[in-house]
Amino acid sequence: TEEIRQLRNKHHIHVLGTDIPDPLGSFEELLTHYKVQPELLRNIDSQGYKEPTGIQRQAIPVMLNERDIMACAPTGSGKTAAFILPILHHLRKAENCGFRAVVLAPTRELARQILLEFRKLSKGTGLRSCFIEKEATALKKAKQNFDILVTTPNRLVYLLQTEPPLVCVKDVEWLIVDESDKLFEAGKRGFRDQLGAIYTACSSPKLHRAMFSATFAQDVEEWCRLNLDNVVQVYVGAKNT
Ligand code: ADP
Ligand code: ADP
Ligand code: MG
Repeated sequence: TEEIRQLRNKHHIHVLGTDIPDPLGSFEELLTHYKVQPELLRNIDSQGYKEPTGIQRQAIPVMLNERDIMACAPTGSGKTAAFILPILHHLRKAENCGFRAVVLAPTRELARQILLEFRKLSKGTGLRSCFIEKEATALKKAKQNFDILVTTPNRLVYLLQTEPPLVCVKDVEWLIVDESDKLFEAGKRGFRDQLGAIYTACSSPKLHRAMFSATFAQDVEEWCRLNLDNVVQVYVGAKNT
């Protein structure tokens, strides 16, 4: 409709794909349209987030509709919460069946920041997120039960290749690649192969995938069109090809 077109224009949201849900007019729509847990709205509020950012307006509904997504939006535009909120909604509550969401980040520092945001936004839900620091802690954590894993790809691939594997990802429903443009850059120790290995291990038929980055990268787009399922592309700001 004209109203939706205007909302996208106002926030410089460009979309590509089929059956794309409407962007959010406000965070309250998460309650009214998507029936998310009220705790999530409370946590958004206590973070001081008043209005969703452009990427949050469009990426959150796409992910709530369980669609694979490739999203590009500038640094500082709130991409972290854009993928965290739909994950928290889908996982809903703690279950002792192992990891159900995995977030890959290019550095440990970034992974740590993402984990902090998960913890803030998941308050009151009981969902448990973790970060694998060292092999020793990985061993301990693999036995405990966590719902969400934030890690670097190197570390995850290493832990999957141990015999028996130190982490299990067969029930993962969401695989997120943050800063995918950086990870796909040349010289990152074969990220494509690592991602391939991680995909193979994430064998649940309920698996959905999301790629987030700050810049448009041709190789990421090609990879997404080849490997993702009926992908929705979301760009905020100019598509800097
Ligand atoms: P990006 O990953 O796109 O670079 P971040 O997710 O790191 O951006 O978010 C940048 C900053 O904006 C963070 O401090 C975050 O807490 C804040 N932020 C996220 N969403 C909102 C919002 N809706 N309103 C206000 N601030 C927000
Ligand atoms: P990153 O955390 O990004 O992988 P590192 O520079 O610490 O950064 O890389 C170490 C990598 O070496 C690990 O990610 C893993 O792939 C591999 N590795 C080799 N031996 C071990 C080990 N004993 N414990 C954990 N990782 C190991
Ligand atoms: Mg980010």
